[in-house]
Amino acid sequence: MNELSIRDRTLKIINGYDFLVKKKYGQNFLVREEIFEKIVAAAEVTKDDVVLEIGPGIGALTGYLARNARSVIAVEIDKNLIPILEETLADHDNIELINKDILKVDLNALVKEKGIDRPLKVVANLPYYITTPIIMELLRSGVEFAGMTFMVQKEVAERMQAGPRTKSYGALTLAVQYYGDVSIAAEVPPGAFIPEPEVDSAVVHISMPKAAPVEVRNRELMFRIIRASFNQRRKTLYNGIKNFPELQYSKEIITANIEKLGHGPMVRGEELTLKEFAILSDYFDMERPL
Ligand code: SAM
Repeated sequence: MNELSIRDRTLKIINGYDFLVKKKYGQNFLVREEIFEKIVAAAEVTKDDVVLEIGPGIGALTGYLARNARSVIAVEIDKNLIPILEETLADHDNIELINKDILKVDLNALVKEKGIDRPLKVVANLPYYITTPIIMELLRSGVEFAGMTFMVQKEVAERMQAGPRTKSYGALTLAVQYYGDVSIAAEVPPGAFIPEPEVDSAVVHISMPKAAPVEVRNRELMFRIIRASFNQRRKTLYNGIKNFPELQYSKEIITANIEKLGHGPMVRGEELTLKEFAILSDYFDMERPL
């Protein structure tokens, strides 16, 4: 199918079903064929894979995935899209549609309930209003993933690849780099979507290596410290940790641990590498576990 026909088909579906595109759900439908192909190639989807798609929309990417995968579980929040999806995907018998908010899906329970016996591959043209919460939730869920491939805003792709002491470096950077290796598979202009988003986009692939790049005694504690450090961006690391309600350490302990790490009292979270966050977290953990 060429670009024009995907574009035309999308417009026909939107108009034919009197479907109102909902900005509040971040609905920007991808209509450029070569990008679908790049997404499927970057995700390395094979007939052995079970794919989790977030936000199937009108099902264009879902169809591509279903043709290449063993099965697809597609989670869509907008109930008005379900009858459309049932029709556009009627030719496939390996797709399961779930009408839910992905942030309210218990992924561990889903994997058990569906008897999924292999690491999932996640593929999604993400709704941009909740990109970061979705990625953070997936990473934190404890579910075993074989890889994640997302369409995101270009600026988010840059955050995933950022290094310390840059504007883009933050909690998302550290979470993604702890769990996986990030690469950019394609840059995508606004014209590839209907309606066109106001920002440039990129397809990112996160491969999930077997071992994490750093060792840490308590992962949950490390990510609390990371969130605390970037909670108030222009504050010092000391103040970030001191003012974070989920961390209850005395001034003396915080000061001593930052010093032990080899930094002065004015250091900011954005100056620390992932390795340093892991070491700092171990100091706090040895002091008093969570
Ligand atoms: N996959 C389609 C495509 O590539 O053209 C649509 C992508 S569109 C950028 C994002 C999709 O995510 C929309 O279908 C939207 O309704 C859905 N969505 C938004 N928020 C969601 C949520 N919390 N849970 C599940 N789906 C959501």
